Amino acid sequence: MKALHNALCGREPMLCDPIKAANHAKYAEKYGVVDGVLDMFFNPVEKPYVTQAGTAVISVKGVLGVGLTKFEKLTGGADMEDITAQIEDAIANPAVNRIAFNVSSPGGTVLGTPELADKIASIPLPTMAYTKDLMASGAIYAFSQADQVTASNSAYVGSIGVIMVDESYAAYYEQIGLKMEIFRAGKYKAANVAGEGYSDAMRAEEQARIEAMHEQFKQVVLRKRTMANRADMEGQVFTGEEAAAKGLITGLATSFASALASFESTDGKDAKKMPTMSKSGKKAQAIAKPLAAEVEDSVLELLTPRQKEMVESYSDVEELFGPFDQSTGPDGSHYVAASPFASEGLLCQNCVFYRGPRGCGIVSGDIDPNGICKLWVIPQA
Ligand code: SF4
Repeated sequence: MKALHNALCGREPMLCDPIKAANHAKYAEKYGVVDGVLDMFFNPVEKPYVTQAGTAVISVKGVLGVGLTKFEKLTGGADMEDITAQIEDAIANPAVNRIAFNVSSPGGTVLGTPELADKIASIPLPTMAYTKDLMASGAIYAFSQADQVTASNSAYVGSIGVIMVDESYAAYYEQIGLKMEIFRAGKYKAANVAGEGYSDAMRAEEQARIEAMHEQFKQVVLRKRTMANRADMEGQVFTGEEAAAKGLITGLATSFASALASFESTDGKDAKKMPTMSKSGKKAQAIAKPLAAEVEDSVLELLTPRQKEMVESYSDVEELFGPFDQSTGPDGSHYVAASPFASEGLLCQNCVFYRGPRGCGIVSGDIDPNGICKLWVIPQA
């Protein structure tokens, strides 16, 4: 695949394990169209279809890229523009009342992945994504944005990180007595051109770019998977069961058919809120979000009129834009894990948004019961 070759040659960050990407590229090169055609016959990508219950099923198989040629698709690429078009077709179809993705993908290029993630997050119908084997890197980036995300116990899930591989021949050139002369205006222009190597400034620039992408990746996952922890987003790969226990996915299913049956057995809104259990019985997803309507009347009665308005507004903001993060940034909640106002009872565990054992309905990530953030709404004692 051209898209993979570009990334493997350097300078294009990837949301995919480079070894898997290199293997795929070598395989495609070796067998080319013959392998692709055989795969098409024996293991075809299912065309989108609509079930009797009105679920549009979209299959996603292979390395994700954008603007792929027919040849690239034949050799195992999945074009994110095709997936977007299939989503739009499904939304426009009056017979469709929900969308399910059947995913088997190691991820792919950065290009196009955030856009696909946003597209999935904005689908105005209940959504579900399932993998029986692989939902990693760019694939978890995009499909973590479904309302329900399920996997088989043994599937590989995770690899939340960004990687860029580039080769420098500087030492080799020196060894053979070859000196590169490069004329450059703009200190970051064409870093490592002709394998010259990176200056310290270029290296720092590339690393900062990768880190910014990683941070964006984590924030996108956290806006939907609010029980997940940043510590589990450092490139680790988990089994489906581990991923469910860590809140990266919402549950487990032995097959796409059983995941689909479970998805179709819930109505749209419940599908978004339904808690699920991993095989080991650990809670895999936040229970219902404490949207304003879900705060018990007896608790509401204890709030001041201003606090009631705050509950309404924060809930609306969370529904519109996803959870606040824990940072001091513009979308941050200024969360701290140990409240400096503990003696006054200002603790997460007393806040109407708190969802134990370690969660919050409007702030993403791990929440300590003894923490606090600037969004607290705590009834007067
Ligand atoms: S104080 Fe309330 S809103 Fe803030 S993190 Fe704790 S539980 Fe969530």
